[in-house]
Amino acid sequence: MKLILLGAPGAGKGTLAEILTEKLGIPTISTGNIIREAVSKGTEMGLKAKAFTESGKLVPDDVVIGIINERLKKPDCERGFILDGFPRTIPQAEALRKMDLDVDIVVDIGITDEAVVERMAGRRVCKDCSATYHIKNIPPKKEGICDLCGADLIIRKDDDPQTVLDRLAIYHEQTEPLIEFYKKTGKLFTIDGVAGIEKNISSILTALEGKE
Ligand code: AMP
Repeated sequence: MKLILLGAPGAGKGTLAEILTEKLGIPTISTGNIIREAVSKGTEMGLKAKAFTESGKLVPDDVVIGIINERLKKPDCERGFILDGFPRTIPQAEALRKMDLDVDIVVDIGITDEAVVERMAGRRVCKDCSATYHIKNIPPKKEGICDLCGADLIIRKDDDPQTVLDRLAIYHEQTEPLIEFYKKTGKLFTIDGVAGIEKNISSILTALEGKE
């Protein structure tokens, strides 16, 4: 199974990916998580990406395409994978197409800008394992602590309100055109980002069964 999750920042890609990874037994490849980890470790790629990512801008295509190329070659991707946050531009989608991976489904998570702004204000992420929470909608069992690994929950630097608005503008300009791109491939499956996690997971699983 090879899935792509498309959608604005805050649409719920990370949350759906976490659940789908568990249910399908395939890894989630989140370019955002890979980049944040590289930034915090201070690797060469992290140093290149830091200024872009912390100000909410897209990291250059060649850097991100390189990350994906490397990651998808690892053995855990042999049975399939979920792409969370890649592709985000037409050149990235073209590069992925050239990799000839035969993606099964592209899930587009629709959400309004207003709902995104509201969500991001309450988003908290685990500083160690990147699990995602929301103070109202998906609260951790113990305030400020990750249910999965017990580490502290933090607010992402790029979740401050002005950066969220900038990220939404970039989404509309550079990522939204991918909806048309994938519509033409016949693989696009649209869900409503505010419909509820369980409902969305079950409709994605049903759509995947239709592809088997
Ligand atoms: P995310 O966690 O998916 O919201 O990504 C966080 C940040 O990482 C983005 O705002 C970008 O700076 C960077 N990033 C993640 N994925 C990509 C991508 N496919 N292309 C360019 N930049 C990316």
